[in-house]
Amino acid sequence: MTTRILEATTTTSELTTTGRGMTHRPRRLRRSEAIRSLVRETIVRPTDLIYPLFVVPNSRSKTEIGSMPGVFQLRVRDAVDEAKRAADLGVRAVLLFGLPEYKDGIGSSSWDPAGPVQSAIEGIKRAVPELAIMADVCLCEYTDHGHCGVIVDHNGVKDVDNDQTLPLLMKQAISFAAAGADFVAPSDMMDGRIGAIRRALDERSMSDVGIMAYSAKFASGFYGPFREAAESAPQFGDRRTYQMDPANGREAVREMQLDIDEGADMIMVKPALSYLDLIRVARDNFQLPVAAYNVSGEYSMVKAAAERGWIDGPRIMNEILTSIKRAGADLIITYHAIEFAQSYRG
Ligand SMILES: [Zn+2]
Repeated sequence: MTTRILEATTTTSELTTTGRGMTHRPRRLRRSEAIRSLVRETIVRPTDLIYPLFVVPNSRSKTEIGSMPGVFQLRVRDAVDEAKRAADLGVRAVLLFGLPEYKDGIGSSSWDPAGPVQSAIEGIKRAVPELAIMADVCLCEYTDHGHCGVIVDHNGVKDVDNDQTLPLLMKQAISFAAAGADFVAPSDMMDGRIGAIRRALDERSMSDVGIMAYSAKFASGFYGPFREAAESAPQFGDRRTYQMDPANGREAVREMQLDIDEGADMIMVKPALSYLDLIRVARDNFQLPVAAYNVSGEYSMVKAAAERGWIDGPRIMNEILTSIKRAGADLIITYHAIEFAQSYRG
């Protein structure tokens, strides 16, 4: 035992001596915050962020979402105020989700020109014209069964019919664009929807309206709290016949390529944290802007652990957003947007 300790001591002192002539010392670049800030490779700015808002009809009240502290279901006027608050802090875009007055089998309330999303788009455009407005396109918030498309019965097995869903998504996208959305963001994962929506917009002289495609959207357990927020939990089954299998990376590239071929202006990976590798793949393979969705479950885990004092919430928020940007995302959709922007020192 004694011998071994002596040996260890000798080895250490030899290393120290050798070290005096060491050429490469990466620690020189970490000696002070001034130096660290000079060589920092990745800096998240409020302009990188897109702030999601959940809009309810004015007949309802502003309600905090239990599993997402700090996130609210907003009436149209609250959504306008929240958008203004985000813009004042340097955030440049919001992404709107709607909770309608009524639901049915085909989600027809989603193309009601007086719907919560349409009204919020108009209100925000008027009050905060400098903000880019994106509107999520999907049927699950508007259907009574909570699925993202039309349900058909194939020999006793219920499934979402792809091609019957496309015209409904087109109607919804046109309605949001007509209200003034700068981008529509289809999140349904139906095949061919980007091309169908692009054509529908172009035919109505809405060729300026962009498409942010949820290209690689996975059937993920991280969406749990969102379903409370958007009241969009499926009433039966799950979304695995249309959202992607979390195990598939090559298939994600194929989905991105298809969306780009069909006319997407931006592609997205959702969720972000368990899929950082695919954000990097998106960045390395394609030239379009890449968005990543830092989803509800990722947000709620930070909030829950911070509430218990198990982690330093603001520090973890910064580390998470930095990791998403470092992985290759140009844009990050995040519920942390306001909190991040408030703490940002540019
Ligand atoms: Zn959906």
